[in-house]
Amino acid sequence: MPEKQPRDKCGVFAIYNYRGPDHAALLTYLGLLALQHRGQESAGMAYMDGDKIKQFKGMGLVEHVFPRKMLLSNQSKTVLGHVRYSTTGPSLAVNAQPLVARSKDKTGIALAHNGNLTNTRRLHNKLLREGHIFHTTSDTEIMLSYLFRYRRYGLKEAVRKTMAVVQGAYAAVAMDGEKMVAFRDPNGFRPLAIGRIGDAYMFASESSAFDTAGADFVREVEPGEMVSAGPGGLVSDYSELVANPTLCVFEYIYFSRPDSILGGKSIYEVRRNVGALMAERISLKLDMIIPSPDSGITSAIGLADRLNVPLEWAVHRNPYLGRTFIEPTQDERELAVRLKFNPIRELVRGKKVAVVDDSLVRGTTARVLVSLLKKAGAEEVHLCITSPPYKHPCYYGIDIPLTRDLAAPGQSLEDLAASVGADSVTFAELDDLYQAVDSKQAGLCSACFCGIYPELGKHSGKVS
Ligand code: SF4
Repeated sequence: MPEKQPRDKCGVFAIYNYRGPDHAALLTYLGLLALQHRGQESAGMAYMDGDKIKQFKGMGLVEHVFPRKMLLSNQSKTVLGHVRYSTTGPSLAVNAQPLVARSKDKTGIALAHNGNLTNTRRLHNKLLREGHIFHTTSDTEIMLSYLFRYRRYGLKEAVRKTMAVVQGAYAAVAMDGEKMVAFRDPNGFRPLAIGRIGDAYMFASESSAFDTAGADFVREVEPGEMVSAGPGGLVSDYSELVANPTLCVFEYIYFSRPDSILGGKSIYEVRRNVGALMAERISLKLDMIIPSPDSGITSAIGLADRLNVPLEWAVHRNPYLGRTFIEPTQDERELAVRLKFNPIRELVRGKKVAVVDDSLVRGTTARVLVSLLKKAGAEEVHLCITSPPYKHPCYYGIDIPLTRDLAAPGQSLEDLAASVGADSVTFAELDDLYQAVDSKQAGLCSACFCGIYPELGKHSGKVS
């Protein structure tokens, strides 16, 4: 990654009691490939082998972790898959998910989790005092240890009781030898959807994963809901916990794929709407709108359309550069951006251009892009950022750099533009996002922009 962008914690994909014609493991593989953008550090599957839970996990990308032979020979009908990016616990193989807790007879519970608990420290200490021996450094193990503790009540009740203990963000799927339960925290910070293929049900972090697996999107799991897939079909239930839904607004801006449906809205439409709404606050005379590849494309379409300014793919992105692993120093980060992007001189020479991107984090990408465009002959380079400035950390499963490493806090727009070498910087406002999503502020979390944490209160710097 040329710049440390905010990164999501994980993606979950699961299928219950699939009877062919393909293999459930193969469909899970396809689903995980579709969710690869949500985590690239490790991938894993837990699957039922009779009444025993087995697993296959590894570090790296989905296509490298699962051998073809394993996918084609696996006869399991019920599989739980996961891709991980670590926000709690380091990037270690032992933290790869799904996590499995086994009884002596090798039956047990498997859990795949997207999100971040906010009472981790307190529960971790409590479990230690009670004699629990931790095998990982991931907050998911805390959730799993409570599920396992309550397993005698059946998986659904174990989930209900665990939800009463843990706090924070979780969109998760648990399975035992009988059932699979998908559940979402009462705020609904992270997405989770239900799909169907033939008679079998699926769960996934994003609806687009169902398209890749050849399944149909049924609906989303609601905040606070527990959806159980079992021998009797699908059963919906709700925890007693009450909270205002506060889905992460950043799922709309950045994390989720544009072909996913979230909160009943097309992500593509929302991003396009934000671009169009931003046009209201731009009074510049522009010759061209340029999307920052690939993160600014959809919003740039909306902005160019509303401003009636030509949209040009004037910056080429080298598609063969993946992770460069050279991000520790500022110079190296800037080199990584240069390796990745190259403006098309003939298009930008002598032009007043606006570059559209979805966020401004450290400002490295913006700084290098502006400098490359000016070197290529652009007369003016303006930045249009389709989210407000980041100012606060996220406790709900998104890895955002420390405040001291962010470009925007404490800077006026003029100073910020000067610091990245641009002629101006314009940010979207929170109201643009709410309007684009067609949601009232109460329905979305925007804490990293405004500092008001749905669970924790205003400008809280602490989790327990
Ligand atoms: S703090 Fe920001 S990134 Fe985290 S859940 Fe809220 S909106 Fe999303």
